[in-house]
Amino acid sequence: MRSKLPQNKLSIFAVMSKMAAQYNAINLSQGFPDFNTDPKLIDLVTQAMRNGANQYAPLAGHLPLRENIAALVQDLRGAAYDPEQEICVTVGASEALFVAITAFVHREDEVIVLKPAYDTYEPTIELQGGIPVPVQLDAPYTKVDWDAVAAAITPKTRMLILNNPHNPSGMVLKDADLKRLEELVKDTDILILSDEVYEHIIFDAQQHRSVASYPGLKERALVTASFGKTFHTTGWKMGYCLAPKALMAEFNKVHQNTVFCVHHPTQVALAEYLKEPKHYLDLGSFYQQKRDVFLNAIKDSRFQFKPSEGTYFQMLDYSAISDLNDVAFAEYLTQEKGLASIPVSVFNKDNRDDQLLRFCFAKNEDTLLQAAAILNSL
Ligand code: PMP
Ligand code: GLN
Repeated sequence: MRSKLPQNKLSIFAVMSKMAAQYNAINLSQGFPDFNTDPKLIDLVTQAMRNGANQYAPLAGHLPLRENIAALVQDLRGAAYDPEQEICVTVGASEALFVAITAFVHREDEVIVLKPAYDTYEPTIELQGGIPVPVQLDAPYTKVDWDAVAAAITPKTRMLILNNPHNPSGMVLKDADLKRLEELVKDTDILILSDEVYEHIIFDAQQHRSVASYPGLKERALVTASFGKTFHTTGWKMGYCLAPKALMAEFNKVHQNTVFCVHHPTQVALAEYLKEPKHYLDLGSFYQQKRDVFLNAIKDSRFQFKPSEGTYFQMLDYSAISDLNDVAFAEYLTQEKGLASIPVSVFNKDNRDDQLLRFCFAKNEDTLLQAAAILNSL
C-alpha cells in the first residue's frame, strides 16, 4: 500500500485530548467549550426536525440561512455576496477548507502557508499534488513579515492561506496587513483562502478585518467561517464559505461530489438564530472576560505571555520553567500535573520549538481557575 500522506501523523488534537482523558487531566488542549450552547438554539433544531426538515437540504444550503449570512456579511464587512451563487454551507470550516484547496490547487501548484498553521492545510495541499510553501513567523507570531511572504511568491504560486484571527497565537491582522497583501497579489492569479473561523472573537476594542472588506482581495478570495466557534457547537460541524460567483461555481463542483449537502434541520435553526445579532456580536466580550480571568490568575506565575488578541487560545512561554522541548513539556504537564495543552511546535515549519504551549480558555471560570492553580505551582 502506497500512502498518499506518508508523513502525516495522528492530529495533535486527538493525541492530547486522548491523553487528557487517560490521565484525568483538565483539558485545555483541543479547542472546544466546556459549557453548553444556548438552549434556544437546541430548541430551534428540534423544532426544525419536528417540522420535517429531515431530508436533503439544497446543495449550497438552506436558502434563508444563506440569505441571513449574506445580510450579516454585508452589515459587518460591507461586502455583498449573492446568497444564490456566492455562499455555500459546509460541514464545518473543515470541509470548506478541504473543498477550496481541492477545487483550485493543481499538481505542482505552490501554496503559501504562514507558519504556525492549523494542521489540515498542508496535508490537503499535498493530497492534490500541490506544494506547500511555508513562511515561518517569528515567535510569538504576532506579526506577519510581508517581505518574507513577497519573497515566497513565484510564478507557480496558486494560493495563499491566511488565518485571521490566528490559531494558535491569537494574532489579529491590522488594516496595514490586509493592504500590503492586496498590493502583493495585485496583477497576479493568486487566490486567497482566508480562514476566519474566529472572526467574532476579537478583544480589546480591536476589529476583525475580513479579506471580504478589501476589493482587491475579495475578488480572489474564498472565506471560511464556522458556526461551531460562534455558537459553542463545535460538535455540529457547521460552517460556510463565501466566494465570488466564478470561484463558487468551481467550489460547488467539489462540494457536490464530497457531501452534496449539509445537515438540514441545523441549517433551518441557524437561519432563525442568526436573525438576532447579539448572538454573535457579544462573543468578543464574552471570551475577553474568560481570557482575563485566566491571565489574571496566572500573572504571578513563571510563565510569560502576551495577551491573546483574538480566538479562544492563549500561548504561554515556559522557558523560565523548563528546558524540555514543548512536546515533552506538554506530556509532562498532562501526565504529572493534570493539565493538557497543545505544544505549538507541531504547527511550525520543521517543528521549530519556541517553548510555547497553547491553552484553550473557552471554559467555565472554575476550570480556568483550577488550571491556573496548576500553572502557578510550576
Ligand atoms: N480553522 C481553524 C484555524 C480552526 O481552529 C478550526 C477549528 N477546529 C477549523 C478551521 C475547523 O473548523 P470546524 O470545526 O468548523 O470544521
Ligand atoms: N480547531 C480546534 C483547535 O485548534 C480543534 C479541531 C480538531 O480537533 N480537529 O484546537
